[in-house]
Parts: sequence; C-alpha cells; structure tokens
Amino acid sequence: MNNTKMEDLVSLTKRRGFIYPGSDVYGGLSGTWDYGPLGVVLKRKIMQMWWSHFVEQREDMFGVDAAILMNQKVWQASGHVDTFVDPLCEDTINKRRYRTDHLLKDNGVNPDGMTMSQMDEAILSNGIKSPDGNPLSKSRTFNMMFTTHVGATHDEESISYLRPETAQGIFTNYRNVVDNFYPDLPFGIAQQGKAFRNEISPRDFIFRSREFEQMEIEYFVHPEHWQEAFDELLNATHQFLESLGLPKDYIHELDVPETDRAHYSKKTIDIEFDFPIGREELMGIAYRTDFDLSNIQRVSGKSMDYTIKGTNEKFVPHVIEPSFGVERLVMAVLASSYREDQVNGEQRIFLALPENLAPNRFAVSPLLKNKPELVTKAREVYSLLKQKYGNVVWDDNGNIGKRYRRQDEVGTPSCVVIDFDTLSDDTVTVRDRDTTEQKRVSIAELVA
Ligand code: ATP
Repeated sequence: MNNTKMEDLVSLTKRRGFIYPGSDVYGGLSGTWDYGPLGVVLKRKIMQMWWSHFVEQREDMFGVDAAILMNQKVWQASGHVDTFVDPLCEDTINKRRYRTDHLLKDNGVNPDGMTMSQMDEAILSNGIKSPDGNPLSKSRTFNMMFTTHVGATHDEESISYLRPETAQGIFTNYRNVVDNFYPDLPFGIAQQGKAFRNEISPRDFIFRSREFEQMEIEYFVHPEHWQEAFDELLNATHQFLESLGLPKDYIHELDVPETDRAHYSKKTIDIEFDFPIGREELMGIAYRTDFDLSNIQRVSGKSMDYTIKGTNEKFVPHVIEPSFGVERLVMAVLASSYREDQVNGEQRIFLALPENLAPNRFAVSPLLKNKPELVTKAREVYSLLKQKYGNVVWDDNGNIGKRYRRQDEVGTPSCVVIDFDTLSDDTVTVRDRDTTEQKRVSIAELVA
C-alpha cells in the first residue's frame, strides 16, 4: 500500500522544480505538464536506464526514432481510425463530458469486459449521476487521436494525426531494419518518444495526460516461440523496475482476461502499481500475433515476410510488445520515494531517490558564504566532484539547516560542507539524506 498523498506529491514537485502544469502562466492547458530543471533530469535518467537495459546491453535490439507525423494510412491499417475510441457520456444539463467506464469505476462498479450498452445499463441500474448530480446521456464512442493537416490544403488527403503510440513507427521500419541488418529471429526494435491522446478526462496528475512519452519494443519472433520470448521480456521488465528502486510489493501482474484484451492479442499482462490513486496500470506486455505486420502487408502491398536464413521457410513474424509510459514511471518513482519524518523535533520531507536517479548526486556548500577562504576551498571541491559526477549542485542559499531541508526535498543523497577544519586537514562533512548522519571524509576519498 502506498500512503503518499497525491496533493503532497503535486505540491512538492511544483515547489521544487520537478513538474509544472503546462502553459501555467496562461491558466494552463488540461492534460499537459512541463518538466522543470530537476524533473527533466529524473525523466531522462529513467529513459536512459531503459535504453541501456533493453537496447545497449542486449545483442538482439535495434533502436529507431521515427517521425511523429505519419501517413494517415498507418492509422487506417492499424485500426486506430476506426477503433481507438473510449466510451463518452454527457451530463444532460451542463453538457460536461465523462468517460463512462471511469464514472462506473468511481461509483464502485467494475466496467471491465462490459460493452458500451452494458455500461449504459449499469449507469441506469446503479442510479449513477454526473459528478454534478445530473442525469447522464447514453454513451457514444470518441476517437482519441488528435487530427491535424499536413501542408497548405485542408482536405481528406492532407489529414494526419499526432501519433497515439510509438509502436507504429517501429512496425513501419521493420522492413528497413531487416533489409539493412539481416537480424536472426528473435530480434526487437525499440523506440522512445512522444505520444498524444485526446483523453476525455485527463486526471490524476501526470498519470493520464494528453501528451506523454512512451518507450516501446516490438520483439519479432517465430510464431512457435512466442511464449519463451514473452516470459523473457516479462522477466527483463521486472529487472528494469527493480533497478529503478520500485518496491517489489507495490508491483502486481494482472493477466488480462480475454474479454478485456484486444481481439488480436493472445495474451496480455498488465503490470500494475500501487500509486497514491490506488492500484493502476504502470505498463503492459502483449502478444500481438502477426496483426500489425499483416495489416501493413495488406494495405501497403509490400511483403513483410521474414525468411529463415539458409532455408525457404518464410512467414510474417509474430510480435511481443512491452509498452512503458514514462510519466507513469516518473510518478511511481516519486510516489515510492516520498517520505516524511521528524528531525530534531521538526517535520521533514525528503525523497529517498536511489543514487542513480537523484537529479543531484551531491550538493556542495561553504559553511559560511561570507568567508572567502571557505568559498574558494568549497569551489575547489565542487569542481572536483562536478568533473567526476556531472550532476553536482552548488548551494549556498540560507543557513546550513535550510540547505539540508531543500536538498532533502529534491532527493540529493549527500550534502558536502566545507568548514574551517577543511582548510587545515582537507576533510569535509558529508551528511546523509536518509539517516541525517554526518561523517568526516577526506576530499581525496570523496573524489576517488
Ligand atoms: P489506460 O488503460 O490506463 O488508458 P492503455 O491500456 O490505453 O492505458 P496502452 O495503450 O497500453 O495504455 O499504452 C501503453 C502505456 O502508455 C500504458 O501502460 C501507460 O504507461 C502509458 N499511457 C497510456 N495512456 C497514457 C496517458 N494518457 N497518460 C500517460 N501515460 C499513458
């Protein structure tokens, strides 16, 4: 169980420069968020760790970075134009719109596996009203893709979409990668990048946004060997989540029942996480059969066949797709590192971020900022640490207690303080974020 309160997390991330509401100065834009100086570092570290784990450290992965705008045929062939929809109902008085499945869930009715008309029946039979207490309309489908036009003419031909997932940019490059690199099966193609969904009701901080970032892999396999690839990628996923320091007991596998899976998916496991908003989907891993490549083959007329080397065996490979949302990982990391305790009788908030994710590895300060000899020495130590670690910050604002509190709140694992003893014996005080213990350490040892 995660006891962190959402409002505490939103407040800390705003006041300490992690995450700001998008377009805040103009009153905001619902479902958009901006990363501040510390948030961007945390997010990039998570993305870099993913890339290292799933691409760089493996022999069977290729990376791509495809364009966000794609030919509209991509989304026709993938089924998104027709079926990437959510059920929407309307408050019949004030015309506010809601996702029907969310209203059911909020009122204690599980919508999993229900058709749209079953959801409407459940709304009626449970007497569910809009959050403003008004009757609700019947549901209709709402396509979540953002539409735009490419070029100077606005007609059917010029329609394009902001991609709702990164996966299609991988599938459309499958042929290129096979022709250029002749990989043996199984192999994967990975991509990180922005995705856009016009969510009916974006909510729960960055959990459900309209613009977010995904990290996806399409792993191509022989149809007979999908299960072992699925198991291996699920295992690699758990290892990755562990490397982010996420508590094991917050992570749960949900074997998605057939009624809730896409029709082409033979197996889907959602990894759920105990967020402050409850247990919700963190990421998913799905066996998508040959659905996507076969659609591309049918619509483009180009062969997506793979030929096993040295044989005549040809087939459209099947696919296992691990799909991660960066925002949900950022939220999981922040929520599980948020702590409150008492230090010297005073309330303290800190982020127990693992060293490899903390935006600042060290903060360096002179004990007194009006003593030039301390400042000069502290600058020397700061430069040495900065050269070695990069993410080292200079902090001489306010008294030392205030600096510790500030660095605690942004999760800096160690604060280094240069005092008068440093001038004579080249040792510094290193104060630990989690225990608040202070140790005397030689500069040589610190930068070794
Ligand atoms: P949900 O059921 O929560 O809407 P989904 O099943 O539609 O999610 P997928 O299409 O499987 O999500 O997308 C893969 C991943 O992308 C999700 O597991 C999640 O981490 C992330 N994701 C999807 N939609 C959003 C969103 N609106 N905001 C932030 N992350 C998202």
